[in-house]
Amino acid sequence: MLFELLSLNNNIIKMKILNGSCLCGKVGIEIPDDFEYMGNCHCSECRKFTGSDYSSVGGISSEKFAFTRGEEFVSIYPQNAETELAFCKCCGSSLFSRNITGGKHNIRLGILDSTPTRKPSFHIFVASKVPWLEINDDLKQFEKAPVK
Ligand SMILES: [Zn+2]
Ligand SMILES: [Zn+2]
Repeated sequence: MLFELLSLNNNIIKMKILNGSCLCGKVGIEIPDDFEYMGNCHCSECRKFTGSDYSSVGGISSEKFAFTRGEEFVSIYPQNAETELAFCKCCGSSLFSRNITGGKHNIRLGILDSTPTRKPSFHIFVASKVPWLEINDDLKQFEKAPVK
């Protein structure tokens, strides 16, 4: 599927659409292939929420996020005043976190059914990494959140 956007000089750019879904398939999402950043989070909260050693996420403006089906099957866990965590209430798949004030959706990359152009480029919260995991890539590492 393609998504039409106008560039600064008014050329039409065809932007690929990425699709994602939960384990049971009731929830479907779509976003343009336009992640602003992509990385691996080793914080204890992402670990608990996803049940994985770490969580790979891609950030995109909330305005570009859409459900294609099953929004009624999505449960929201209010993680804190800034952040909501979304999961499928039928199968438990963790779908995304939403930063409310920042207007960003951080999509759990494991739910994607298509391949984004961007690849993860950093590890954050490596100070709380699980002890049995060794990071063997050359991606940038941050002890906590990246300093902006
Ligand atoms: Zn599901
Ligand atoms: Zn995290």
